[in-house]
Formats: sequence, C-alpha cells, structure tokens
Amino acid sequence: MPEPGPQAEARKLPPIVPTPDLPDQQPLDALSQVGAAARPLLQPSPYRELVVEIDWVTSHPPDSSAVDHLITVLRTSIGKPVSVRGGNELPRQSGPYYPSQIRALAERRDRSSGGSVAAIWIVYLDGSLAANRRAAGAAISGTVMAIFPDRLRESGGEGDVLEAATLVHEMGHLLGLINIGYTSPRRREDPKYPGHSINRGSVMHWSVEAASWSDDLPMTFDEDDLADLRGLANGSL
Ligand SMILES: [Zn+2]
Repeated sequence: MPEPGPQAEARKLPPIVPTPDLPDQQPLDALSQVGAAARPLLQPSPYRELVVEIDWVTSHPPDSSAVDHLITVLRTSIGKPVSVRGGNELPRQSGPYYPSQIRALAERRDRSSGGSVAAIWIVYLDGSLAANRRAAGAAISGTVMAIFPDRLRESGGEGDVLEAATLVHEMGHLLGLINIGYTSPRRREDPKYPGHSINRGSVMHWSVEAASWSDDLPMTFDEDDLADLRGLANGSL
C-alpha cells in the first residue's frame, strides 16, 4: 500500500482532463521521446494504475530486492497502484545496443498501455549501450527503459543497491525528471548533465547512471524531484 506522503496530496486534486491527443490519437507506447509519457503516467486519468513488465536476456535477471525498491518508490511517488509482470527470457543479443534495437525488442513486450492501465517495459540486457558503454541503465522511449547488469557488476559496489538506484533513476527520466518536456521552477538541473540533478542526494544525480558506486548512493527522489512530479500530475507544470 502507498505510504502517506506527497502522493496523498496529489490524489486530493480533481481529475485532470487528459491531453487531447492522448491516448486516443497516439498510443502511449508509441511515444518515442523519453519523458513524453510523463504526464499521462502521472496524472490521475486516464491511467489509474501502472503495470511494470520486466523481462531479461538469459542469465541477466533482475535482483528481486532492487525491483521491490523501485515499486515501493513508484507507489509512494505517483500515488497509483503498481504491479509487476513479465519474467520472459529473451535470447542473448550481445550488445552494444542502439536505442532503435531496444525499441524493436519492445515489440515483444506482453503488456501494452490501454484503457485505464499504463504499462512500462523494463528489459535487462547483456552488454552495454552503444552511446555510453559505462551506462548501467538508459531510458529509451516514453514507456521503455533498459538495464545493463554487466555494467552494474563492474561497479565494485553492492550490485543490488546500485541496481535499485539505477531502476529509480531511469524511471525518473520516464516521469520527466529533470526538465524533460517541462520547466521546473526549482533550479537544480545540472548544466553539465542535462536532465540530471546537481544534488548528490537525489537519485537523479548523473553519477547513478554512470554505475559509479559510492557509500552514500542516493536511492530515492529528493523533495524537488517529488515537487516536480506533483506539478506534472496536477497540471501545474
Ligand atoms: Zn540519467
């Protein structure tokens, strides 16, 4: 169950009329831009619940405690029911992967967004991302993200903790953080790392994605991140 917190506040607000071109004219899962699905994912309607499908390449399964962490953070941050599905194994692909390849793989997802349910697909891949071979994860499109466990293992830290932080970080990008498709009134986007926080205490700090382990690894969104998510949810951003 969601814990009391910011999401409870968001739920008290009146339902927002969905953006006219969503989801009828352009399916949520067809949005190729990262962050483009943020408002539909966050606003109370039309998507009243969220399904997270997680599939993986053979021998690259997720860590269950990392997934639990993501789901807990997600429930408390967006104030909607969240469930986990998937478990399908994909054959080894031996990256490096280009986003277009990952989007093509996403055709194999079981769950797609529709009706009152939004679906996010998380795929665990072997190898790395072509554009950034150190990246532990990447947001790929509106409702798709990839995790690279081989990179997590190289971090030298506690792999499951870094995996948990990476999952939340990439989910943050899907939810628009930071300044992806909106402008935050809270100035903390790192000018050197667009889309990322200057706050080392936020999971949206760039170092999380770079699989750079530290003892004080941020695991959750900070207050500014949460305020932006609330603004996107209630239509004020
Ligand atoms: Zn990032």
